[in-house]
Amino acid sequence: MDTTNNNKKPHAAILTSPGMGHLIPAVELGKTLLTKHAFDVTIFLITTDPAIARSQINQQTSHLKTPPNVVELPQPDVSSKLGPQPSIVDRIVVTMTESIPSLRSFILSMNHPPSLLIIDLFGTAAIPMARDLGMQSYVFLTMSAWFSALTIYLPAMDPIHVENTHIKNREPLPIPGCEPLLFDDTLESLLDPHGPMYEGYTNVAKVINGSDGILMNTWQDLEPSATKALGESGILRRFTKGPVYPVGPLVRTLVERDTAGLELDNKVKQWLDRQPTESVIYVSFGSGGTMSAAQIRELAWGLELSMLRFVWVVRPPLDDDVSGAFFDVGKGGDGLPEYLPEGFLERTKELGVVVPMWAPQVEILGHPATGGFVTHCGWNSVVEAIFGEVAMVAWPLYSEQTMNAAMLSEDIGVAVRANKAEDGVVGRDEIARVVRRVMVEEEGGEMREKVKKLKASAEKAVCEFGSSYESLGQFRRNCCELHLRRGEDAKARGA
Ligand code: UDP
Repeated sequence: MDTTNNNKKPHAAILTSPGMGHLIPAVELGKTLLTKHAFDVTIFLITTDPAIARSQINQQTSHLKTPPNVVELPQPDVSSKLGPQPSIVDRIVVTMTESIPSLRSFILSMNHPPSLLIIDLFGTAAIPMARDLGMQSYVFLTMSAWFSALTIYLPAMDPIHVENTHIKNREPLPIPGCEPLLFDDTLESLLDPHGPMYEGYTNVAKVINGSDGILMNTWQDLEPSATKALGESGILRRFTKGPVYPVGPLVRTLVERDTAGLELDNKVKQWLDRQPTESVIYVSFGSGGTMSAAQIRELAWGLELSMLRFVWVVRPPLDDDVSGAFFDVGKGGDGLPEYLPEGFLERTKELGVVVPMWAPQVEILGHPATGGFVTHCGWNSVVEAIFGEVAMVAWPLYSEQTMNAAMLSEDIGVAVRANKAEDGVVGRDEIARVVRRVMVEEEGGEMREKVKKLKASAEKAVCEFGSSYESLGQFRRNCCELHLRRGEDAKARGA
């Protein structure tokens, strides 16, 4: 396939996997490549809910003079490929794998086909296709450099040693050049060689390491050790074929949203406008987070006991699934939830706002009245919290969120952790305690000061000449060089 572009711009195809937490940063990456680094960009959308995904992309790009090209791939029927109760990861990976034939035929039909493919953690099945079509392949990791380092190092770890020291003896797991990982902050299921995820994730990590490069949605000043360990002369560099580029934070910002004429939902905005500065805590568990009925009740009581102002995004309870809304994200929900404790809405009507299912998070975090955030510590939420200058209550639910919680609370000092009781539920007194620590006590104010400094460092990183800006510039130069080199090699081989 001839991937030479007439106007000499590198053309990046970005393949997004289902889930808002994957789509949102992928679109931000596309915008940045397009507007700041002179790439042509086509976003290939794989989603279980095209209307919501389209509306999300529209919100993020409608203010651009020339928005990226978006191609919606047909939704594959994966029902026959999945067992009776598939995990989220299985559903995403199978959906991605089954979409590759339509991606391939679309790319082959393009007049100016892309010269490089950027995928996320779940799109690794597309790498052989890219290679086959003569395209370069890159992985965009929308997670911390610390977790990226663990992922990159995973295939090199000795599973027997990990099992004996970390899983059985609960010793910290060393990650070269980075903070060691404490057992309690571990993804036990991921690191346990006998666990359900170990083999699959190690194979994904091997494919990532074999790509032409890795982009990470983080920045040097936020994670100096891990970005250094992954950098050109860092200790982990030998595990990856291509360079690792810290290019973040790529995040939706309020300025753009205002330009796009998008307004925070009137009811929430009007209410926030009436509240004092930094007096409201925003409570939300990402795009997919769900909780048991018992946990929702405790959270309601905890907020009420704290006597503080709040905006709470609630979803119907699910007793055995912490990510149950992942594929049904943003599905509105007009009615007020009847699963909250009796009288809760009436008793707290002056104190807080309950938003069913989905809220405009960036706008809420960026509102001057918001001072705190009870978060599941998904990476996008973490970065958005920094831009919103809020202190956090770290309440991880699944995936690498415990590592993010550890980093935010113990390492950077911008969050306090919500501790579970023995039954796995965070009790109402604990909730009231941590929320008050963040909102009322002096340490909350100190955390907000630290977050403001982090925000300044984030803005510096993505500005012209900032570390992430330069890193993306280097990425572009390397893409162009590799493209030429491979073209010359192909000519020499007579291809
Ligand atoms: N989000 C939102 N409104 C909600 C819930 C989530 O806008 O009610 C957005 C949030 O701003 C973030 C993304 O969805 O950009 C969630 O990504 P994150 O990495 O925090 O968590 P995930 O959903 O992937 O677990």
